[in-house]
Amino acid sequence: MAVVNKFASAIKRLPGGTVLVAPLDAVVNWAKESSLWYLSFGLACCAIEMMATAASRYDLDRFGMIFRTSPRQADLMIVAGTVTKKMAPMLRRLYDQMAEPKYVIAFGGCASAGGPYYDAYSVVQGVDHVVPVDVYVPGCPPRPENLIQGILKLQEKIHKQSLAAV
Ligand code: SF4
Repeated sequence: MAVVNKFASAIKRLPGGTVLVAPLDAVVNWAKESSLWYLSFGLACCAIEMMATAASRYDLDRFGMIFRTSPRQADLMIVAGTVTKKMAPMLRRLYDQMAEPKYVIAFGGCASAGGPYYDAYSVVQGVDHVVPVDVYVPGCPPRPENLIQGILKLQEKIHKQSLAAV
């Protein structure tokens, strides 16, 4: 039913049945934004909020999102927690192993800009020093609703992408 609602204007009724006439971009983007599989990867306290978002109360599965334990099966990295300089090379390696097209959400103050540890010698001042970030979610810690808002923003971004630009 969700598919019918999404493409309501593109469904044409013809004698003998219905056909879907839509730009390829729209169909591919709908598939991508509706099946974001995210890497099971938490770094600090914000990871608890990420886990809470995936659990039954907030139920990320309804967005077509499920945790994957292998980067090769994931196309979304939610960086949830403090990124230390010691951890940064491993984080980059996991990102490099993820399938294309891939996306990153910096979840929380630490992942976005160092958070309370912004002047610590051992902490990266934002994960965008290590991997490209698509959406930043502020807060210390942000609530599950904030992560869902970030995911909706990412879906909007994917929705505007064009295959011609890839
Ligand atoms: S932003 Fe706050 S809650 Fe999140 S990892 Fe950093 S210190 Fe912990």
